[in-house]
Amino acid sequence: MATKSPTSVVTGGAGFLGSHLTDRLLAEGHCVIAVDNLITGNTANIEHLARNERFEFIKHDVSTYILVPHAVDYVFHFASPASPIDYLELPIPTLKVGALGTHNSLGLAKAKGAAFLLASTSECYGDPLVHPQKEDYWGNVNPIGPRGVYDEAKRFAEAMTMAYHRYHGLDTKIVRIFNTYGPRMRLRDGRVVPAFIGQALTDTPLTIFGDGSQTRSFCYVSDLIDGIFRLSQSDFHEPVNIGNPREMTIKQFAEEIIRITGTTATIEHRPLPVDDPKVRQPDITRARKVLGWEPAVSFEEGIKETIEYFRGCLVRGHLGERVASLHEKDHVSSFSR
Ligand code: NAD
Ligand code: UDP
Repeated sequence: MATKSPTSVVTGGAGFLGSHLTDRLLAEGHCVIAVDNLITGNTANIEHLARNERFEFIKHDVSTYILVPHAVDYVFHFASPASPIDYLELPIPTLKVGALGTHNSLGLAKAKGAAFLLASTSECYGDPLVHPQKEDYWGNVNPIGPRGVYDEAKRFAEAMTMAYHRYHGLDTKIVRIFNTYGPRMRLRDGRVVPAFIGQALTDTPLTIFGDGSQTRSFCYVSDLIDGIFRLSQSDFHEPVNIGNPREMTIKQFAEEIIRITGTTATIEHRPLPVDDPKVRQPDITRARKVLGWEPAVSFEEGIKETIEYFRGCLVRGHLGERVASLHEKDHVSSFSR
């Protein structure tokens, strides 16, 4: 007997990660409804799906009631500004989508009897005092600092998700995503990967914030999406870190970008943003044990793919300005269920 394709709703589906997740779900045979208000996303990320009968795009702000007139099996809540520059410029929409958007997405999952997966973040650990970070570490977050709008919204989102699990018996999952990079990031979203690559490719100085001794651990997007898909298929309800444990300082990262691109650009120091975490590295013991997952793409491979992608963006003049596509028509494609 043929089984019906599952239907997934992906909030933030026109963003960097949401669009890659959408591609993976479609490849797994799902029907996908991407819901996005395009505040930091772009329909260019989902343009290739315009003729896919299993794909629908709804332009909508999920901080308001979400209406989906179909049966739904999974809700993946990815909507939220994610770059520090974006959430510092959009503090209230960030708080709202983490709080109200999560509530509405959970409500949608409950009404449809769907499973729910929250895109949470390593920022829940704040400026960590435990290194590397394990899921049972409660974090060191400044609630009233500029980053608090993102960190606390995500911590609230985790609390709300666990409450729906415990009180309503909803099948929920929480992924804590560590710095992920790859094609479809906006060249000018301010995150360090597009920033340094864009600067290197245009021979302008790489802007290191502070002395560059702070560390990050960069995960290639296909690895992250694989971990998230596995988590969605598991019956594990506590948070799971997904990220690549290969840690480097931001100074080392700048030097790698200079080496790989062969740029003539130099390094320039700028002030360190307030509450910028000094270290970050995922402990992925839980993901290995529960999901049988670990990253497969090396830094060298992933970064070369990403450099080529951004080279193409520069040639085409796609610099990734925010809200560039608000004029796009609302529905890219639709399917009937
Ligand atoms: P992104 O900015 O590319 O994508 C976010 C998407 O959400 C955008 O398309 C945006 O338009 C949409 N959105 C924002 N507010 C919305 C709202 N109110 N209603 C509907 N759509 C809305 O960022 P990303 O890197 O793809 O991040 C996706 C998710 O993953 C976010 O929840 C982010 O917090 C989380 N995350 C990402 C990383 C990373 O390294 N990329 C790390 C940790 C967590
Ligand atoms: N950073 C930098 N130069 C830039 C952008 C970022 O030195 O042009 C630093 C930033 O201060 C942080 C790290 O790179 O220490 C990673 O920043 P990103 O914005 O990518 O994300 P975060 O990990 O802070 O959320």
